[in-house]
Amino acid sequence: MLGQMSDHPLTLIHAFNRAERLFAEKTITTLTATGRERQTYGEWARRTRRLGGALDALGVAPDARVGTFAWNSARHLELYFAVPCSGRVLHTLNIRLFPKQVTFIVNHAEDEVVFVDRSLAATLLPLIADAPAVRHVVVMDDGAGEVPADDRIIDYEALIGASPAIDFHVDDENQAAAMCYTSGTTGHPKGVVYSHRSTVLHSLGVMLADTLGVSERDTILPIVPMFHANAWGLPYAAAMAGSALAFPGPQMSPSAIAELIERERVTLAAGVPTIWTAALDELHGRDLSALRAVVCGGSAVPQALSEAYERRLGLPILQAWGMTETSPVGSVCTIKSTLADLPADELARLRASQGVPMPLVEARIVEPGTTHEVAWNGSDHGELEVVGPWVAASYYGAEGDRGASFTKDGWLRTGDVATISPDGYIRLVDRTKDLVKSGGEWISSVELENAIMAHPAVLEAAVIAVPDERWGERPLACVVRADDHALTADDLRAFLSSRVARWWIPERVEFIDEVPKTSVGKFSKKTLRERFGAG
Ligand code: ADP
Repeated sequence: MLGQMSDHPLTLIHAFNRAERLFAEKTITTLTATGRERQTYGEWARRTRRLGGALDALGVAPDARVGTFAWNSARHLELYFAVPCSGRVLHTLNIRLFPKQVTFIVNHAEDEVVFVDRSLAATLLPLIADAPAVRHVVVMDDGAGEVPADDRIIDYEALIGASPAIDFHVDDENQAAAMCYTSGTTGHPKGVVYSHRSTVLHSLGVMLADTLGVSERDTILPIVPMFHANAWGLPYAAAMAGSALAFPGPQMSPSAIAELIERERVTLAAGVPTIWTAALDELHGRDLSALRAVVCGGSAVPQALSEAYERRLGLPILQAWGMTETSPVGSVCTIKSTLADLPADELARLRASQGVPMPLVEARIVEPGTTHEVAWNGSDHGELEVVGPWVAASYYGAEGDRGASFTKDGWLRTGDVATISPDGYIRLVDRTKDLVKSGGEWISSVELENAIMAHPAVLEAAVIAVPDERWGERPLACVVRADDHALTADDLRAFLSSRVARWWIPERVEFIDEVPKTSVGKFSKKTLRERFGAG
């Protein structure tokens, strides 16, 4: 017997209508290069409907990909809804990718229109000089930047000013809503295509009290870019919940972020570890009484960083794990009530884990290259595999090439190596390709980095494997000293001797000025491997 409930489709139109009808007075604040703009959800909704009308007027086909090359802003949020709710597919372009990759992605997705912030127009236009599908380039004024001459250019405000507000219709919840290419730390960028259904369910997922708990009472600051994995789904969840939003626009300096948090009384802010490392000094001493969650993920969150936030701001970091392929949030490290009484050092160690899978996300660890599941005992590790309604099942235009990334039974191979504790906490040991195999045993580069970064004279550290005649591979530590510290390799080794196994201690320590970062602010081990001849 089947259930008899309505199969009313899960579309973003519902989230849009909710924001428009129930939360019209709530505000969206955006920093520009020169000041700040403020609007209400009511104004935003009217503009979003007009933007839908503008896409019709431009003759953008149903199902067409609409690119964005933009900072986090209210206009970007207009695109986040107008494009999918009018039946097209939002394609967020990563503004920090290598130029050739941007051109590749625009052409691969066959974007018909690209919306660009004025401050980024001079960067974008040369990259789409040779993009035959792009018929229009719409420029959004964020307060700075030259716009090179190009016949395809249209002004955003003029465009929506001249267009009618439309009603939105999408009947099929499985229709594509948005797409995002993975940033390619592991090979060529691959297109992940989200549906309305997956986006709605992911939004509900991050609204749950035991995950990020996005609610109407929040003021959300997504520092994590809207051009990468939907800013962790926060813009969609915020609109659905009716949370106020604060967007940094092009103002990504630690001081601008800290000021925005204080001034807008932000309650939840989310960014990668590099952002939070840089912002700590700026945040210290400000009025952060409204702030309830500093969400951090995208790469390993050093335990020392979370402890420093707890010590100096009274708020430990809330870690989340995910991938472009998982919409992106897959697990969140909330502390179960049954563990709340653990001693402080054990709690700090628990917070440095990637947390428990979200409701509706299934996780397992598997011996690499096999289908053999590894026990959840907190010490044996395997490759993390996940499945769920907001987890990708294939890549765009690569249907015949599923083998490497998806299992026969449809789970995503994450490329992350993890343990899972008996109570369900996932702890990433490494990415499969970053593990150091020394004398037949594995060294976790992440754990070694954590131990090194616990030294007060260390600002950042990244560990890579280098070939070694005797052991196969050995770890090489690339270390950035904190200002004014004369730390030596021997000091560091002495410090590590009580913290990690003796055979983990790196013979080679290179002091560098900065750890090179990828387009989304993660440590670029690929660059370090090239630099230090690690192949
Ligand atoms: P890529 O970096 O390949 O472009 P993503 O940006 O989607 O892909 O990043 C996904 C990867 O980022 C994960 O597979 C994992 O290795 C890493 N990651 C994400 N969150 C965390 C976290 N909290 N701790 C450690 N690593 C993380």
